Amino acid sequence: MKKIGSSEIICVGTEILLGDIINTNASFMAQRLAELGIPVYRQHVVGDNPLRIKDALADAFSRCDAVFLSGGLGPTCDDLTKETVAEFFSLPLYEDKNTLSRIERYFADVGRPMPENNRKQALVPAGAVIFDNDNGTAPGLAVEKDGKTAVLLPGPPVEIEPLWYEKVEDYLRPRTDGIIVSHNVHVINLGESAAEEILRDLMTSGTNPTLAPYAKDGEVRLRVSARAANRAEADALCLGMIEKVKATEVGKYIYGIDAGSTENALVGLLRERGMTLAAAESCTGGMLAERVTALPGCSDVFLGCCVTYANSAKIGLVGVSPETLAAHGAVSAETAAEMARGARLALGASMGLATTGIAGPGGGTPEKPVGTVFVAVSTEKGETVKKLSMSPLRSRAYIRYSSCTQAFGLGIAALKNK
Ligand code: ATP
Ligand code: MG
Repeated sequence: MKKIGSSEIICVGTEILLGDIINTNASFMAQRLAELGIPVYRQHVVGDNPLRIKDALADAFSRCDAVFLSGGLGPTCDDLTKETVAEFFSLPLYEDKNTLSRIERYFADVGRPMPENNRKQALVPAGAVIFDNDNGTAPGLAVEKDGKTAVLLPGPPVEIEPLWYEKVEDYLRPRTDGIIVSHNVHVINLGESAAEEILRDLMTSGTNPTLAPYAKDGEVRLRVSARAANRAEADALCLGMIEKVKATEVGKYIYGIDAGSTENALVGLLRERGMTLAAAESCTGGMLAERVTALPGCSDVFLGCCVTYANSAKIGLVGVSPETLAAHGAVSAETAAEMARGARLALGASMGLATTGIAGPGGGTPEKPVGTVFVAVSTEKGETVKKLSMSPLRSRAYIRYSSCTQAFGLGIAALKNK
């Protein structure tokens, strides 16, 4: 069977061009293709316009041997992807009996008569491979001719995603030389450039496996990718690289492999140790609690949180001393430490976290510019505070989100250093 050496993605839909919907199908397909080891060279977006779809097809096929299209397979007259692809390949359309009866069944199941124009969805290009769509009416299709392959998939994410996992992957697997597997190494309390400096030799040591750092909302992720004939071999290559990373200075800042998020890692560590968590939040206003409570099953670890925005709340709810506030201000290491300790004691938790800072865009001073945040952790061993100095140009949302991430990171460090 001919292997697919390179591909491009074409997403069809005027509403994507207008910015009305976000092109999540492109990122979905790109990620899945990477996992299968099929390189993606370009992504295109075109409106529901047959001439421009044809142009994009010709353009893409001038460079690569497979094109993945999403959208425009519906029953209405502006859904023209299939017709255009058939014309591009000079293939006639025929009515596929199985597809027609599946569409009829689909309408019978939902108790509605089948509109006549849905019949058009049973038309398929001669010789096409048909992927039955269990979540909608339009089937997915693969058309192969003269060494070129076009894979056509429906636009709605609820249709394309299961169709891909259940049918398209099986179709593609024998057409690829192997798979690419990636793992994320999660690093906290170390900046991206510091990580990069330490890991430079490993990052440039070869092309398989590869190592690439990227900063993500207050933490650093190292993406380790390897290409191999199967998952086990690719995993083994990744593992070798991960071990090398662990052996460097970066090793002690790693909080997890494919750990999902800092809050997930922290809650897991606390659970393992039979510990509980409380928080006092100022500039994050409950976001830290929101991120923890978004984790299913966190109730065995998380006791609660006080949103102590005003000084009076810091004093009244978590016992920050008025003297500390008067001497150092609400945004200070001293206040953060008292908040974390106060939250821990007020809720009887084994760990308290706190955030206090200036999220902007207003409220900064020369001594404490926007982006100055203190995060703190308190355990029975005492308090640790970290001062964050984020760029004042960062958005309020970024500063608040990163402050939570850093607070979770401090919690992780407190447990690991025990
Ligand atoms: P339908 O049968 O629903 O008409 P279709 O295959 O013709 O499906 P489109 O008409 O192009 O697909 O898009 C239908 C809907 O699917 C869009 O309104 C949008 O919500 C979603 N959609 C389409 N393309 C994308 C995309 N690239 N990324 C995310 N969502 C998309
Ligand atoms: Mg449509």
